Amino acid sequence: MNGEVRQWVRTARHIVLLSGAGMSAESGVPTFRDTQTGLWANFRPEQLATEAAYRSDPAMVWDWYQVRRDSIAKVQPNPGHRAVAAFQRRHPGRLTVVTQNVDGLHQRAGSPGVLALHGNIAEDRWLDAPRACCDASRLRDGRPPACSACGNLRRPAVVWFGEMLPAAELEAAEAAAQTCDLMLVVGTSGVVYPAAGLARATAGRVVVINPEPSALDDAGDAVLRGTAATMLPELLAG
Ligand code: NAD
Repeated sequence: MNGEVRQWVRTARHIVLLSGAGMSAESGVPTFRDTQTGLWANFRPEQLATEAAYRSDPAMVWDWYQVRRDSIAKVQPNPGHRAVAAFQRRHPGRLTVVTQNVDGLHQRAGSPGVLALHGNIAEDRWLDAPRACCDASRLRDGRPPACSACGNLRRPAVVWFGEMLPAAELEAAEAAAQTCDLMLVVGTSGVVYPAAGLARATAGRVVVINPEPSALDDAGDAVLRGTAATMLPELLAG
């Protein structure tokens, strides 16, 4: 472990931890690249995770999400998620989690105020703007469930390709990135924007934690070649 980086953590007034799919890899959640193998290998997320795909075949896309939801419900936060939450308990207000992950594992580990830029796969929302009759507690069962009066469909509360990020979360993440004095970039390939842009917009030091090269390595004041579950408990021990 780089002693200088530990010193940066100890002295930082405000830290942002920007996490991507690699943060959850050791919990058993496949990264984007890993989803290119296995059950749904023939379906590219770019083709299924869109509003157009949902509207043209809602049952198929709903089923695809159900498979992912079922597998995520079975996994647990790993020592990396837990180290982050424990640091936040010991140092209230000093670390903000900004995540691209939709798996809810930071939240389940106990991190408060997680800025989930791409939503949460465990939650649903209305596909079309809700009408007066749309009541989420009285749904017509189905794949997907729908409003029993008007048929408005429920959809996973995740950000699909081509959609805007939730404005409030993005603004809060940008403000945190601009004002923090240290950003830990963990387990992201750094190719999905605007999330990756946060690491380039910070005035603070940037530490990249990734066992493989990433597109954000050049933005790093330090690059630590290791995994989230091994590096974070050590780095955030203080
Ligand atoms: P990515 O799959 O493109 O990249 C994952 C990165 O994590 C890679 O750079 C890889 O080297 C690194 N990595 C792998 N194992 C690691 C470990 N144990 N510790 C640290 N790093 C590790 O992921 P991305 O950059 O987050 O972008 C993919 C998009 O897909 C995001 O928008 C994200 O929302 C979505 N996604 C989310 C999840 C999830 O919620 N867990 C899973 C897959 C994809």
